[in-house]
Amino acid sequence: MDKDKVMGNKGLVPYRILAGRFITATVLGLLGYLINCYPVPLFSNIELVLGNTVILLCASRFGPVYTLWCAALTITGLAQTWGHPYVYLTYGLEALLVCLLRKRGWYLLYADFFYWCFIGMPLTALVVHQFFTIPQDYQFFTVIKQGFNGLLYTALASLVSLLIPSGWFRAIRQQPNVLRTFRQKLVHAVLVMLSLVFMISMLVASRNLVVTQQQLLASNLRERSAHLVHEYHRYLEYHQRAIFLASQWLSDGVPEAQWQARLGQLHRQYSGFLTMLMADRNGLVTQASPGHLIDAGQSHSVSDRDYFKVPLAENRPFVSDLLQGRGFGRDPIIALSAPILNERHQPVGIVEGSLDLTQIASEADQSHWGDVATVLTDGTGRVIFASEGLKVNPLTPFEFNQLKEIQGFDLSLMNIHSTSNVVGEYFYNQVALENGWQLYVLLPYRPLAERLEAYFTLGIGLLVLGMGLTILLARQISAYLTAPLEFLVRKLVQSQQSDDPLGRLPALPRGSALEVRTLYDELETNRIALSEYQHSLEDLVTTRTAQLEAANHKLAQLAHRDGLTGAYNRRYFDMQFEVARQHCVRSNSHLALVLIDIDHFKSVNDTHGHLVGDDCLKSLVMLIHQHFSRKLDLLARYGGEEFVLLLPQSEPEEVLRRLESLRQKVSETALSETADGQPLHVTVSMGVLVEQAEYSTLQSDWVMAADGALYKAKQSGRNRICKAFSNKDAPVSADSA
Ligand code: GH3
Ligand code: MG
Ligand code: MG
Repeated sequence: MDKDKVMGNKGLVPYRILAGRFITATVLGLLGYLINCYPVPLFSNIELVLGNTVILLCASRFGPVYTLWCAALTITGLAQTWGHPYVYLTYGLEALLVCLLRKRGWYLLYADFFYWCFIGMPLTALVVHQFFTIPQDYQFFTVIKQGFNGLLYTALASLVSLLIPSGWFRAIRQQPNVLRTFRQKLVHAVLVMLSLVFMISMLVASRNLVVTQQQLLASNLRERSAHLVHEYHRYLEYHQRAIFLASQWLSDGVPEAQWQARLGQLHRQYSGFLTMLMADRNGLVTQASPGHLIDAGQSHSVSDRDYFKVPLAENRPFVSDLLQGRGFGRDPIIALSAPILNERHQPVGIVEGSLDLTQIASEADQSHWGDVATVLTDGTGRVIFASEGLKVNPLTPFEFNQLKEIQGFDLSLMNIHSTSNVVGEYFYNQVALENGWQLYVLLPYRPLAERLEAYFTLGIGLLVLGMGLTILLARQISAYLTAPLEFLVRKLVQSQQSDDPLGRLPALPRGSALEVRTLYDELETNRIALSEYQHSLEDLVTTRTAQLEAANHKLAQLAHRDGLTGAYNRRYFDMQFEVARQHCVRSNSHLALVLIDIDHFKSVNDTHGHLVGDDCLKSLVMLIHQHFSRKLDLLARYGGEEFVLLLPQSEPEEVLRRLESLRQKVSETALSETADGQPLHVTVSMGVLVEQAEYSTLQSDWVMAADGALYKAKQSGRNRICKAFSNKDAPVSADSA
């Protein structure tokens, strides 16, 4: 979809994609149309639809528009073959629903199973019930078959879909490519294979069953027909012969007085005749058997009957078509007659027997497939005899609807009772007798259909059971692999979020697959190595941090200290001055700033060398530190041989007293020694400002005041301390020397 949007901006590309989809859907649709034009016959009117596979293939990759277009083409093939427009409804809905469910990430198989269970089969049942004249008990089977069929082509489509390389249709695909778990994939793949293999096996087996049954049926029907034809011929011939012989001996001059007795005797001998009679040349019945038929004294004429007219006119025996008895009962009969001749071989009457055909035909018997029924029709197509169960009346025309012939078996289906029904009632075999009569031997279709129904119902039941078991089994198998994997992933995520991400993983569940165990072991090894590495890294960091801190400290020291004397440098003094002053402001105390300068230091250098001078500088610093060792006191080298001493919280007198002590100490202490080992003494002059901290916020004011005092000290003879007093610098002390 995004792709479309992107492509849409580029102009030409979407048309290529749209065209690609349209062409693919059309090609698939035409393929489906072709396949659906030749449905696979299962048995009788039941056919297998396979073309719809392409609709599902289309639904698996494309959206509703293309799927419906493909479905329209495919279903048209079916609508043409079956002649029912209702297929557009059931299969069209199937295409739409499966496509929409597929869009939501459903597998084709599940979507179609859902459709047939909740919509397809109920809808088919409704359609079949409303629009088809199918017996009630066939309706259930028809519905079951549709569901079975739907599942079959869906499984087929799913398999094809699974086997299609993932690159195909990628550019024109619309349906999402869903990310699924291993378990889902496993269950689906196994279900597809199971249902496909199971259903195909069922079809092959049912086909074999049907073929065998139909072969047996066909040969059974043939044999029975042949047998019955033979029986009928024999029966007819036997009775024809009886009439013929009777006509012979009547013609041979048996006295008429004996005719009645002889006729009765003959009738007893040939019980197949319902009645027998003799008629004179005018057609008046002279004798009849049973005898009582003419005892009443009424005269019966048969002069209008063919069985009278033909033998008399043509001087030959005669077999009538079916006719209804008249004078001696109203049974449907076949009249067999022959002329009685006088000495000159001229017909003077006829002898006739009314044959009761039900006697032979009623030998209806049972077979493996149910009751065998027979129908015998005469030359005019009227029923001579029909087995009782058929409820077909003799003398009426035999009407039936022949359904399509079953290919290759010489087996046809017919409907007798509901001729608009598409489901056959009887398998039948039709044979013509020599005299133009037709014999139909019928076997009911229902028992075979029932057997197949039971077979399919059981099959579908087993399939559903198998599917359930498959789901359970696949879950078990996947649990062997995926459950421990999921467990492992869950634990890894948990430990990532915990305080100890490299902590030990909990043990795998029992029964985990070997692959997962190996993975687990690898993870554990890596975890231990990582953990050790992390510890060593932490140690290293601690060491390095300590080293760094020391170096930083040293660096800070170096940055703040004077390299030669170890006293603070001037920069540090500049930084700390305001800190010290603020401190005094807060504690409302005095701050003392002292400038200390070595007297005639140039001459020390000049006389004894710079190294001796350096020694003096170092020693002086040590002496000052000894005298002013409070933490607050700060000594900095101000430049050359000049130092600044900052003394917060100082009492003015105390400061001066201690400075004086320092001055004396310096003058008394040998700060270095000369080249010849003589102690070297120097003196210092100091300028001091001791004031309340508020004296000035400017450091320069403080320094200038102290410098002024120092200048005074130098001026007034050196080796002394001069105090700055509100611009009045006064010497505090002077060495008496
Ligand atoms: P005054 O009594 O007036 O202070 O005389 P002075 O000679 O001490 O003063 P001046 O400013 O003329 O000389 C300062 C001398 O200090 C110059 C220089 O040789 C010496 N000096 C400055 N810094 C150092 C140093 O770091 N080491 C040594 N050995 N001498 C230094
Ligand atoms: Mg100086
Ligand atoms: Mg000096």
